[in-house]
Amino acid sequence: TGPDAPTTPDAAAPAEVRARPAEVTREAARRRTFAVISHPDAGKSTLTEALALHARVISEAGAVHGKAGRRSTVSDWMEMERARGISITSAALQFEYDAHVVNLVDTPGHADFSEDTYRVLSAVDAAVMLVDAAKGLEPQTLKLFRVCKHRGLPVITVINKWDRPGLDALELMDQIQEQIGLRPTPLTWPVGIAGDFRGVLDRSTGDLVAYTRTAGGATRAPEEHLPAAAAAQREGTAWDDAVEEHELLSADGADHDQDAFLAGVTTPVIFASAILNFGVATLLNTLIELSPPPLPFTVVDPDAGSAPRGAGTPTDAAVAAADAATAPARTRPVEAPFSAFVFKVQAGMDTAHRDRLAFARVCSGVFHRGMVVTHAQTGRPFATKYAQAMFGRERAVLDLAYPGDIIGLVNANALTVGDTIYLDEPVTFPPIASFAPEHFAVVRAVDSGRYKQFRRGIEQLDSEGVVQVLRSDLRGVQAPVLAAVGPMQFEVATSRMQGEFNAAVRLEELSYTQARRTDAASAAELDRLRGVEVLQRSDGSLLALALDKWRVHSVHRDHPHLTLESLVAGE
Ligand code: GDP
Repeated sequence: TGPDAPTTPDAAAPAEVRARPAEVTREAARRRTFAVISHPDAGKSTLTEALALHARVISEAGAVHGKAGRRSTVSDWMEMERARGISITSAALQFEYDAHVVNLVDTPGHADFSEDTYRVLSAVDAAVMLVDAAKGLEPQTLKLFRVCKHRGLPVITVINKWDRPGLDALELMDQIQEQIGLRPTPLTWPVGIAGDFRGVLDRSTGDLVAYTRTAGGATRAPEEHLPAAAAAQREGTAWDDAVEEHELLSADGADHDQDAFLAGVTTPVIFASAILNFGVATLLNTLIELSPPPLPFTVVDPDAGSAPRGAGTPTDAAVAAADAATAPARTRPVEAPFSAFVFKVQAGMDTAHRDRLAFARVCSGVFHRGMVVTHAQTGRPFATKYAQAMFGRERAVLDLAYPGDIIGLVNANALTVGDTIYLDEPVTFPPIASFAPEHFAVVRAVDSGRYKQFRRGIEQLDSEGVVQVLRSDLRGVQAPVLAAVGPMQFEVATSRMQGEFNAAVRLEELSYTQARRTDAASAAELDRLRGVEVLQRSDGSLLALALDKWRVHSVHRDHPHLTLESLVAGE
């Protein structure tokens, strides 16, 4: 099937697919859905390609060094998709490997941090934390890791760029232990220091996985397995040192423990060089062997009150209600009829069609294109005949998906981030937790005569969760405040206001860096304090913005009766 294939709903399909829970169980069990988290430039794109290469998807990684080259390769993936049976959406890369289906869900690649990344992490079952061997843990890695922890996601750590001079391996392990509180349990251990790259000791077999330079031929895994005796002979003291450190690690209890890994207490560590395709096979095998298949998702208990309305930025009250409602947690078995939740909404990708794409993670059952599902938040039917896997401007029709897979729904104007869709048995998944904004800017229409377009655009961006929109009587309707986790969100908002809504805007950044939840009783008094301002979010919650953490502390200290609560649970 291609984009022009007939798209009439197949009325017989749903009944047919409902009848096969065993197939769903089997398909779910062989899926691995994960995201790579990293600080920009740690090698996420390089690793993504290397993974695809090892899955025999891309035959010539040697041809794609450099960002520009990579992009053209990526757009060629559409052809490969047809030829080799992989599917790529702008949200996920899917490929088969060793009788498994791997879904690599993309996190935003730009050099900024935004809420999108957080949302992606709600749609995966595991994360790969990519660390640059020379730089160690960087700010964005730390932030993203905290989200994984909050979500209870198992994390596999890859120390990348080992072919270059970098930090000492033990020093890197200490950073992981100390800065993120995860106990590293290396699966491999480097032979030779960073930069003097010889290979790794496979801690489960005691063998050397030697790095072999393959002249120009990037299609072959540059790895050769040598037993310990041969390794000692070939690598001398570098091997002896690695063995000694490996034994020290074991004596220290730093060995893989599956339960501790799944519980988020430990992280398996792999040493790699994505650019040389080294360690990538180990990573794929590790993902398949250790990381969890799709598990039942927690649902909002229908008996515990009305289901919260999923919104672009769900209210924290709704999150709390959802949390309370799910204790003890009710879940949706993966074999249950189809259900999915929307974790990303993209509009304005195709200016000719002005459509709005919703990306959803399948949580249960089988998705069959043409199914008419129910949108939990409105109770209305949603026809999926235009479900697509898409990349860039090209699209391919997606016919079938199982738990763990990502589907792209076209014309999804009714769907917003956090929403649930289902077949037959009603279900609502809890809203995706929102994160505390740290950047704030007043937004105004450049041309005040275009206020109508301005208002419509701001509302749209708010509902998609591109930015949060805050208002107050003081600032007035013409100058709301945009709030973002990362400043890139402002750039996206500005360009879409101009390009899509024909309402150019001017942003004036505010110097606040903190947002706390407050209440009506505290608002007036807070507003009178220097360096504090109270605004209302579109979900109704009141946020107090403050210049910095110190200001928040001093308000706590000097005015303990005023409500100032963290927006993020556990912070
Ligand atoms: P991203 O921003 O995380 O997607 O990082 P990229 O994949 O674009 O990589 C950033 C830079 O690091 C590029 O110049 C890559 O060629 C380089 N790079 C990535 N992996 C490795 C590696 O294993 N070794 C070396 N030496 N360079 C690497």
